[in-house]
Amino acid sequence: MISDLKTVKLSVSLKNTRALVLFEKETKNYRVIDCNRKSFCRIYVSRNCPPYCEIIVAVKDFVLKRRKPKAEVVEL
Ligand SMILES: [Zn+2]
Repeated sequence: MISDLKTVKLSVSLKNTRALVLFEKETKNYRVIDCNRKSFCRIYVSRNCPPYCEIIVAVKDFVLKRRKPKAEVVEL
C-alpha cells in the first residue's frame, strides 16, 4: 500500500515514453498511475511496472539520488 506520507508524485519523460508515478521514499514502493507504454510493461497484468522498467529506474535514480536519471523527471 502507498500512503500519502512522504510520497512524491513524479512526471517522467524518456524518449517517446511519458509516465506518472507515485513513489514512497521510505518503503521504496511505487505505483505507476499512467504510462503511454503500459502495454510494453504489461501493466495490465501486474498493475505496475517491473523494477527494471526504464521509467522506474529513472524514478529511483531521481528520488534516491543514486545517479543522474536518464529520463527527465519532474516532481509535481
Ligand atoms: Zn514501465
